[in-house]
Amino acid sequence: MQFAVLSLFPEMFSSPFSQSIIGKAVEKGLIGIETHQLRDYAEGRHQVTDDTPYGGGDGMVMKPEPVWRGIQDMRQRYPQAKVVLMTPQGRMFNQAEARHLASHEALVFVCGRYEGFDERIRSYVDAEYSIGDYVLTGGELPAMVVIDAVARLVPGVLGNAGSAGQDSHSDGLLEFPHYTRPVEFNGQHVPEILLSGNHAHIDAWRNKQQRERTKARRPDLWQQYMQQQPPQDGIKD
Ligand code: SAM
Repeated sequence: MQFAVLSLFPEMFSSPFSQSIIGKAVEKGLIGIETHQLRDYAEGRHQVTDDTPYGGGDGMVMKPEPVWRGIQDMRQRYPQAKVVLMTPQGRMFNQAEARHLASHEALVFVCGRYEGFDERIRSYVDAEYSIGDYVLTGGELPAMVVIDAVARLVPGVLGNAGSAGQDSHSDGLLEFPHYTRPVEFNGQHVPEILLSGNHAHIDAWRNKQQRERTKARRPDLWQQYMQQQPPQDGIKD
């Protein structure tokens, strides 16, 4: 899968994506991540990418022409790509959206700065995503968040293929608690059931834990889960 990013600060991407699981996936050629300097699409000696807002007000607005040229270039390079604008006004990104994006061959991320994009740029993208109801200084961190969440769903990227399927939010519930050695840590013991070797009982315990923690920690998710998937497995909640 190919990821391409249009940004005024492309250097920000090098460290996070050269390490650990994502770095290895890039090395293995399972995913490609390339960044493009938006300023390269600006004209004139000073390659200006921002300007003052019509109607007055604080801050600068990203000029439409360089962003549009960048998007056109990406569409030529990756005709199958979905072009995604990062904006706090976009659709809320979550695990279901990550799964949806992971079904594409290529994704292009357009990162804003300053007060954001000239409104007319919206008509040249395929989707707008927000990573949460707060405002960051630029779209680079949001794009990194989305790329990381999508990349780990690409087959082969995670060493253990099963682990993404068990993660919190993959089935509408939070994940069950994990324990590793030692059996006793500062007076806290690993639940006996996990030492039993009885996998049917362990699965049932984990399933119960998932439900209980989702209900306790995220009643909003629990409500959604119950509406979408009424229990058919005999487990009472
Ligand atoms: N004035 C804009 C508004 O109120 O909607 C916010 C602009 S923000 C300071 C600059 C850029 O950061 C945005 O164009 C966007 O690319 C990115 N950004 C900031 N917060 C974001 C979020 N929660 N999700 C996605 N992108 C975000």
